[in-house]
Amino acid sequence: METATSSQNGHATEFIGRRHKMFIGGKFVEAASGKTFDSFNPATGEVLARVPEGDKQDIEVAVKAARGAFEGAAWRRMTPSDRGKLIWRLGDAIEKHADEFATIESLDNGKSVMMARYGDVALVVDMFRYMAGWTTKIEGNTIPLSVPYTPGAQYHAYTLREPVGVVGQIIPWNFPLLMAAWKLGPALAAGCTVVLKVAEQTPLSALRLAELIAEVGFPEGVVNVVTGFGETAGAALAAHPDVDKVAFTGSTEVGKLIVKAAAGNLKKLTLELGGKSPNVVFKDADMQTAIAGAADAVFFNHGQACCAGTRLFVEKSAFDKVVEGVAERAKNIKLGPGLDPSTEMGPLVSDEQMNRVCGYLDSGRKDGAKAVAGGARAGNKGYFVQPTVLTDVKPDMKVYQEEIFGPVVVAVPFSDPSEVEPAANDTVYGLAAGIWTNDISKAHTLAAKLRSGTVWINCYSIFDAALPFGGYKQSGWGREMGHAVLNNYLENKSVCVKIA
Ligand code: NAP
Ligand code: MG
Repeated sequence: METATSSQNGHATEFIGRRHKMFIGGKFVEAASGKTFDSFNPATGEVLARVPEGDKQDIEVAVKAARGAFEGAAWRRMTPSDRGKLIWRLGDAIEKHADEFATIESLDNGKSVMMARYGDVALVVDMFRYMAGWTTKIEGNTIPLSVPYTPGAQYHAYTLREPVGVVGQIIPWNFPLLMAAWKLGPALAAGCTVVLKVAEQTPLSALRLAELIAEVGFPEGVVNVVTGFGETAGAALAAHPDVDKVAFTGSTEVGKLIVKAAAGNLKKLTLELGGKSPNVVFKDADMQTAIAGAADAVFFNHGQACCAGTRLFVEKSAFDKVVEGVAERAKNIKLGPGLDPSTEMGPLVSDEQMNRVCGYLDSGRKDGAKAVAGGARAGNKGYFVQPTVLTDVKPDMKVYQEEIFGPVVVAVPFSDPSEVEPAANDTVYGLAAGIWTNDISKAHTLAAKLRSGTVWINCYSIFDAALPFGGYKQSGWGREMGHAVLNNYLENKSVCVKIA
């Protein structure tokens, strides 16, 4: 008998095998140029699907559709309650197709299907439900005035929160569907309309999501999904004069290009960029927990996570034990295609990413770092890289300073707790940090000193739709998730009435 899961996997195969189109103005369309490009299965290096190569012309049409929808009555006049119900229904629809989404994500991105199903897709569903609840709770204030130059006059003053308008969203390939949800959820809750440019490496799950967006009944043009390249479609969206706001997740390098592109019409901007997050293990930590946690902190999603704990600082007397433990774990991680349920780590997303990570491994070796686990590509088919632990690293090495975005951690001993704060903060990034200790006072003292948007204590990579996430320093502007993210998508209007 066919199980629900196997039939959903069948749907995934059927979906992947289709002739793919982009979603603009409520219709599935080819690129205006007629061009397409390939998306690859990173476990084999073979072509998985072909999608439209949207460019400036398609962005033009999509922005027009989003503007039309923003001004049209169907979305503008929809009650907050109905908007919430629509977003909730989208969460339900994704949940119904959870196994199908997990399969698509695993084949397109390389990640394990189990992780995609119980990590990515579960968080996606929760994100839409969390945001659905906000639509009816977006409120202004009444404000008592004491205007000093109009003695005796009385005013009634209040604020309105209004959607910022047409939003361009540009997302990366590491959590394709989840990044779409982090971006779309709050934009829709706030009443904005969206043009979403997905990453060229992983276009498929967002195209399937677009079908559900149409199915559950979002008005035409509220969400538009464009597949294409960053330098063409992405750049056109970031620079578009009729886009009111851009939300970007990706590299710090491209983040800086987006800032420049957005300057033309001074569009609002939020950025979620890279990281080189410190993970600090004190000698009084529960060692088994800390070792497993330090390994997961970096190897989660194959190290392709902006918050990955890639600089592991360990108090000297525990250094050998922790490094040995993390190295042991690294050596035992089962690499394989994401679709194999026993796979613990899949391939990196692309040959480009594999070569970039291997380039860092070469540079570390040349600079004198020692690989106590891994250190090279794994096999010669697909884009696999060995989980790697580097020691004997110095602060001036590239592997110590730069975001590698692969399964590579550098381990560094410290002798006194006072040393670790400056070392942990010695980075241009400030996205996340981890602390492992049983001393609550030590944990909170260090947490307060770390210049990063998230600090995890005795845990790592804990995400929740209600918990804000984002960066200090060059890790970004603004926050994702929580009620904090709604500020990214809302204007504040002050209304002042003279009543006497
Ligand atoms: P990326 O180039 O920053 O890509 C992110 C998104 O921006 C993609 O949709 C990309 O399009 C688009 N883009 C690229 N150039 C653009 C431009 N000039 N204007 C507008 N949009 C543009 O990241 P990547 O190439 O995929 O990976 C490079 C490095 O970025 C990684 O090694 C990693 O260090 C970092 N990264 C960080 C995150 C994160 O979550 N913070 C995620 C992914 C990567 P394309 O699809 O055509 O590239
Ligand atoms: Mg790129």
